[in-house]
Amino acid sequence: MRDFTSELQERKQSGLYRTRRQISGPQQPALTSDGKRLLSFCSNDYLGLANHPANLEALRRAIPETGLGGASSHLICGHHEAHHRLEQRLAAFTRRSSALFFSTGYMANLGVISALAGRGDTVFSDQLNHASIIDGCSLSRSRVCRYAHGDVTSLEGMLSQTAGHKLVVTDGVFSMDGDVAPLRDLAKVCRDHDALLVVDDAHGFGVLGPQGRGSLAELGLSEKDVPVLVGTLGKAVGTSGAFVSGPAELMDYLVQKARTYIYTTAMPPALAVATCASLDLIESADGLRTHLRSLVERFREAARTLGLALMPSCTPIQPILIGDNHSALALSQALEERGILVTAIRPPTVPAGEARLRVTFSAAHSHKDLDCLIETLADCRHLLAGGSVGP
Ligand SMILES: *Cc1c(COP(=O)(O)O)cnc(C)c1O
Repeated sequence: MRDFTSELQERKQSGLYRTRRQISGPQQPALTSDGKRLLSFCSNDYLGLANHPANLEALRRAIPETGLGGASSHLICGHHEAHHRLEQRLAAFTRRSSALFFSTGYMANLGVISALAGRGDTVFSDQLNHASIIDGCSLSRSRVCRYAHGDVTSLEGMLSQTAGHKLVVTDGVFSMDGDVAPLRDLAKVCRDHDALLVVDDAHGFGVLGPQGRGSLAELGLSEKDVPVLVGTLGKAVGTSGAFVSGPAELMDYLVQKARTYIYTTAMPPALAVATCASLDLIESADGLRTHLRSLVERFREAARTLGLALMPSCTPIQPILIGDNHSALALSQALEERGILVTAIRPPTVPAGEARLRVTFSAAHSHKDLDCLIETLADCRHLLAGGSVGP
């Protein structure tokens, strides 16, 4: 039998061992973790809607109408009118023809990629794409070509040398770096080379674009430019689940073929009702988005003054690049001792030698919370050899 014990031991020695903390109470910046109060800068609840009273009230009111469990898959008897209404709401919200509701973003990516590409086809995937995209590529049994991060020129070279059905897939906002994909250029090369473009906007949806319609809307890109949009509902939307939106025929195709849609129990329908309520909030949350942007701008300015290595991101994902796994862990731990929670992100989530502290902001943070983070980072700077960090 394989030696699991020594594998675990090796992970510990290389600073790659992972543990879980126990949260109690709702998700919010003031978090109770293992019984201790911490100010958290690491959730994806970008607008502070995971515990918003209007969403909680919508959920409470829905339960007598819908009951609790999904009880069946969508193709048997689980497709509730609440799910259907959410799909219509998501299609309208994203200004696209049709939408399909999935139970998680992980499952949406697995299902979409493996349904839209198969044996004999080629999938082109950005080197820094999310793990669910990578796994979707493997599951599809297609030939997979990874292109250098954001490098549209090299992608175009690969596309021009490839025959047959081609799928290009990218994060909209990269989850561990916070930068936005070159979506306009990607749309153009995909059109020129007859490739189907899939954008996973898990971190742009609700945050970027007019009324939070996402990174495609921010650039004025429509369904014609980017046929397949994946969005998740557990981040800025603050509930749970995911969706795909695009041409009605493609959504119909996914209903027939996406195995992670077909072979799983429908989400509790009351959550779909709460998600619709949250979309109402998102649409009118320009004030929250403005506040969020001002936190990000102030943080970047202060971090530059402290000499911290930031990444080229203008989104609420603001990683501090450290490099070494143990140093990233040590800094994270020092912050925690001072009441601030920012987790260290290590390989294989990020490339080897690029461990980082992934700071994320939420509109629920106050400027005082930000001051506290900056002061604490200044306090811990001695942990970053000579005050200079990065590779
Ligand atoms: C979080 C995330 C997902 C997975 O979504 P879940 O709903 O949490 O399963 C997919 N893609 C990206 C880019 C993500 O960051």
